[in-house]
Amino acid sequence: MVQGGGKEVSMTFDEAVETLKQNFEKAKTYDYVNQPLSWALYHTWKESEREEEYERCVVCGRMTNVKRKDRVGKRRFYVEGAGQLCKNCWERIYK
Ligand SMILES: [Zn+2]
Repeated sequence: MVQGGGKEVSMTFDEAVETLKQNFEKAKTYDYVNQPLSWALYHTWKESEREEEYERCVVCGRMTNVKRKDRVGKRRFYVEGAGQLCKNCWERIYK
């Protein structure tokens, strides 16, 4: 599910299944898609790939918009010794 203007994404297994269903329904409405299930699986998989690519907040567990491969030094909302925080938790703790 996309929250906060598409910046934070977190997907549980149930959400992944839900995304797959939604993609499948969507795919069936597209004339150019010959195999709706394949299309849906592909697009759901792309979502999970995104999941792997980004850090999760160490406080609330939500997806941040910080990539895992980003160097710690240039990250925002990163707490040394703790890890990556999301903007919400950071603001709650540091403001
Ligand atoms: Zn958080």
